Amino acid sequence: MAVERSRTYEDVNAVVGGYLRDLAFAQSSQQKMFGYKRAAAAIFALDLPLTDLVGPDGALPRIAGIGPGSTRIIREVLEVGESPTVEHAIARSDRRADIERRRELRLHFLSRAEVRRVLSDRTLAGPTLQEYRGDLQMHSEWSDGSPTVEEIADACLQRGYQYAAITDHSYGLKIAGGMSMAEAAEQRRAIDAVNENRDAPFRLIQGVEANIDATGRLDLSDDEAATFDIVLAAPHSRLRRIEDQTARLLTAIAHPSVRILAHPRGRITGSRAGVVADWDAVFALAATRRIAIEIDGDPARQDLDYTLASRALSAGCLFALDSDAHTVGQLAYAETALAHARLASIPADRIINCWPLEQLLAWLADPASVC
Ligand SMILES: [Zn+2]
Repeated sequence: MAVERSRTYEDVNAVVGGYLRDLAFAQSSQQKMFGYKRAAAAIFALDLPLTDLVGPDGALPRIAGIGPGSTRIIREVLEVGESPTVEHAIARSDRRADIERRRELRLHFLSRAEVRRVLSDRTLAGPTLQEYRGDLQMHSEWSDGSPTVEEIADACLQRGYQYAAITDHSYGLKIAGGMSMAEAAEQRRAIDAVNENRDAPFRLIQGVEANIDATGRLDLSDDEAATFDIVLAAPHSRLRRIEDQTARLLTAIAHPSVRILAHPRGRITGSRAGVVADWDAVFALAATRRIAIEIDGDPARQDLDYTLASRALSAGCLFALDSDAHTVGQLAYAETALAHARLASIPADRIINCWPLEQLLAWLADPASVC
């Protein structure tokens, strides 16, 4: 716990962003609530910590989305490490219980500035950005993402990747525009065309993000799953239940085609805790079956975070570090996943995204073949 406290304190942008979120939920006006939420998002997304942005005269630079009310909170945190203004606002509101619940649901989330600091902190072990060869969860125009497969290939090449998996939602997840199997066949042709038309040593892989239903089954048949190069299984429902769902996750991991358990909890920062499970049992089965546990780098997910990831590491798990990008700009979210892996000291050889393509393909064909 002492370690966590000192880490949280270092991440000044997460502290300020958290207070701004608290202040948002203490408002009675919707407009003010949205304003403080936007301000919080702007602070969480800053590249530099606020401590580095203050001038020698104590002046703060203009930050888009930050008005005078938010500036006051920033000043208080920089001066005394906390915000009496926010505490008073919470005390005057009738939302204390809800705000405290939301605070709990922000634990172990890193701000963008903290992600960048962790990536360049040489005292930490774990994977470097240079060791990261490819991203294995992202969405294209074929489901709820915006880029074409060509745009994804270009953007991944620019990031220096050697491969990437496009993992659109399967047809069971209608809300996310899941692909029918006919569309998946069409997408396969588009991906093949990208691979054939490029000289660069880069390979697009066709994956799918299958939805795990209440009983642990996937939203496509075994034969359909087997047509994809990589199958991610992820929970998208029953994410606010308090009952144990270990059996659901164990059933998904035991599926013959599943290679990655993606955003295993389905948590969302400040909003929901996600699936409750016996994580040591989940990690033990994943380790035995050589299935990768994902660290999803979407800033709102950060799932697993470094605390749970270090338990998965002790259990002997493999890891997938993915962006879960829905735009090409969001491919940078892979860095959030890398930061958690560094904080958990996960060696690069346990991370499938750090493997050469041949090793990755061999593991996809038979997880037991790669040790
Ligand atoms: Zn998902």
